[in-house]
Amino acid sequence: MDRFDIIVIGGGLAGASAAAELAASHKVLLLEAERQPGYHSTGRSAALFSETYGAPVVRSLSQASRPLFFNPPAQFAAAPLVGPRGVMYIASEQQMQSLREFESADHVGARVKRIEREQALQICPILRPECVAGALYETGACDIDVHGLHQAYLRMLRARGGVTVMSSRVTRLEYAAREWTAITDDARYFAPVVINAAGAWADEIASLAGVAGIELQPCRRTALLVAAPAGVEIGSWPLVLDIEEQFYFKPDAGLLLLSPADETPVEPSDVQPEEWDIAVAIDRVCSATTLDVRHVKHKWAGLRNFVADRTPVVGFDANVPGFFWLAAQGGYGVQTAPAMARLAASLVRGQGLPEDLATCGVTLEALSPDRLRRPAPLTRSSLASAQR
Ligand SMILES: Cc1cc2nc3c(=O)[nH]c(=O)nc-3n(C[C@H](O)[C@H](O)[C@H](O)COP(=O)(O)OP(=O)(O)OC[C@H]3O[C@@H](n4cnc5c(N)ncnc54)[C@H](O)[C@@H]3O)c2cc1C
Repeated sequence: MDRFDIIVIGGGLAGASAAAELAASHKVLLLEAERQPGYHSTGRSAALFSETYGAPVVRSLSQASRPLFFNPPAQFAAAPLVGPRGVMYIASEQQMQSLREFESADHVGARVKRIEREQALQICPILRPECVAGALYETGACDIDVHGLHQAYLRMLRARGGVTVMSSRVTRLEYAAREWTAITDDARYFAPVVINAAGAWADEIASLAGVAGIELQPCRRTALLVAAPAGVEIGSWPLVLDIEEQFYFKPDAGLLLLSPADETPVEPSDVQPEEWDIAVAIDRVCSATTLDVRHVKHKWAGLRNFVADRTPVVGFDANVPGFFWLAAQGGYGVQTAPAMARLAASLVRGQGLPEDLATCGVTLEALSPDRLRRPAPLTRSSLASAQR
């Protein structure tokens, strides 16, 4: 009962999806510290799917995830896991250069169309004309049913014989005789492979295992819900995003979701929204629109976890046997989860990069933990300081 092929630590979307994929071929155990598996980042996202968001390899991972969102197999989910939304990137006169640079980036130009101020104002009539000199529209962006996706993976895991244990925080990890022991307050579990999908706590899990960390930095992001402007039909609005990511807003079940797009470095924790960030969100959105916010109906904050190159970390640690990283999903861990889970499962099975991911432009080098271990290239100044 306590011996498995693979122990996955963390029952958020990353851990649940990788565990479900691997349960097709292995005996898998999923350990989650909280009573609810989506309690941390997974349950706090803005639920957006956008193939123009993030670094180029993140865009490739999102592209490779598209089929599962739009056409999930019937036994996985009865209906598509996305709904129509769209993203409209807006730029003021001073930001037009940023808009042009973004438009010409890899994967972006083919997915957005340039629209003029008048059209942008028709699409979202509360925008102040002086705040919009140009805009880009990504029609393929969607809202994700995050809860539906997460539950579908957990169902798949159980249907394949996988075991989930909630309220089970891993407090120690030991390696001996080619086997990991994961120790919680009331149990010990054994497996040759451990997958570290602990979100903001991934470096803490590494430290329990005696593995060097990846310098993961959790960053707080705030969101709030406010009433829609009276008498205005907002349901068809896209997510409106400032081209320099200073704020965004989008319809959410009849209300408007606002975010100051903050990225404040913090320690891993059950992070809560700060009044200052709520005020900044309201100020930025109200400065760009005619929205009048009288009351905040709901507010929350969550963690987006980054390494230095803002790209996820997927793969076995080269220095410690059987220790697999599935971390640093940043602000894209929901939309990239299907591809990341299949990649993780393939690497654990020793099968390399799945062909469809390679076709989308995913490379192992961009995601491997090894890239973070390499010494930085020598520059004139580093050479000089090394010689001193
Ligand atoms: C405000 C906000 C907006 C976002 N918007 C989007 C978006 O629009 N689109 C998108 O794709 N992404 C978005 N994201 C990012 C996305 O939410 C994350 O990338 C994703 O949820 C990460 O999933 P995870 O499973 O890695 O982390 P988590 O959901 O945090 O799961 C990690 C789990 O590990 C568990 N754990 C930790 N330590 C232990 C331990 N010792 N033992 C056992 N379990 C442990 C934790 O309890 C936690 O449940 C957003 C994030 C935020 C905060």
